[in-house]
Amino acid sequence: MGGRLNNKVALITGAGSGIGFACARRFAEEGAAIVGLDLKRNEQWHELESISDKVLFLEGDVTSLEYQQGAVGEAVERFGSVDVLVTSAGIGDAGPVHMVEEAAWQRVIDVNLSGTFFSAKAVLPQMMQQRSGSIVTVASCEGVVATEGGSSYNASKAGVVNLSKNIAIDYGRMGIRCNALCPGFIETPMFDDVLNQEFMADVKADIRAQTKLGRFGEPLEMANVALFLASDEASFVTGQAIVADGGYIAGHSHGIVEMMGLT
Ligand code: NAP
Repeated sequence: MGGRLNNKVALITGAGSGIGFACARRFAEEGAAIVGLDLKRNEQWHELESISDKVLFLEGDVTSLEYQQGAVGEAVERFGSVDVLVTSAGIGDAGPVHMVEEAAWQRVIDVNLSGTFFSAKAVLPQMMQQRSGSIVTVASCEGVVATEGGSSYNASKAGVVNLSKNIAIDYGRMGIRCNALCPGFIETPMFDDVLNQEFMADVKADIRAQTKLGRFGEPLEMANVALFLASDEASFVTGQAIVADGGYIAGHSHGIVEMMGLT
């Protein structure tokens, strides 16, 4: 057991799956008490409860500010503070603008952007009282660079990136840091839903080829970045969009260096 988050309390949305769950497990290994928020409790969460006794799961929807404020209240009552917030709850969406239904647009903005806003709004009064805290929003590399057919999702994640910078600017003097973690393509249930469909095989291969490390990412690799940002090791890092994408948005590659014999 490490101790990079000893005596800290981390509230994590989307904690039942993928990147959020990886953060919950990694942070618990480093000594944090974990308050997990998600739509439903699943088997993975039971596994976490068997590793640590400092875990609390609160089922609900991040589009409800009331639910998130209640979660902060329960976290403080049970563990005494909220030192870290990770906002990993999110949904995917695809389509060029003229094909995106208004309801689908609204849902992705509600969950990804408003859900993140509500998380921060719920947690900040507590962090202001403490005069300390680290917020790690989970945006996307697609919130930094637009990608084909991702209009609504990309817009929601770009909103998360700039919201995170605003939080960093507005609350820095109170000892509160905020950074946006921007993952590339990470193998999670969300990734499976989109890229493991048969008709997406060529797209998936192309995305892997454009990811300069030549592979997709693991949830643990995102949790390790989030851990750094959450911990005091990142004490002078705030207002940043930290892209962890295996080089996906670093630039285009066209096979030129392979042609020159670099393999
Ligand atoms: P995931 O495995 O689907 O995890 C997301 C979790 O959020 C799920 O448990 C989901 O529940 C939950 N959730 C969805 N809507 C919610 C709501 N309204 N209230 C509460 N919880 C809700 O996906 P992931 O890949 O780990 O994604 C985590 C975050 O990383 C997302 O914000 C995503 O946009 C971002 N991201 C992922 C990738 C990637 O390649 N995986 C890349 C860039 C950014 P259900 O499963 O029941 O819907």
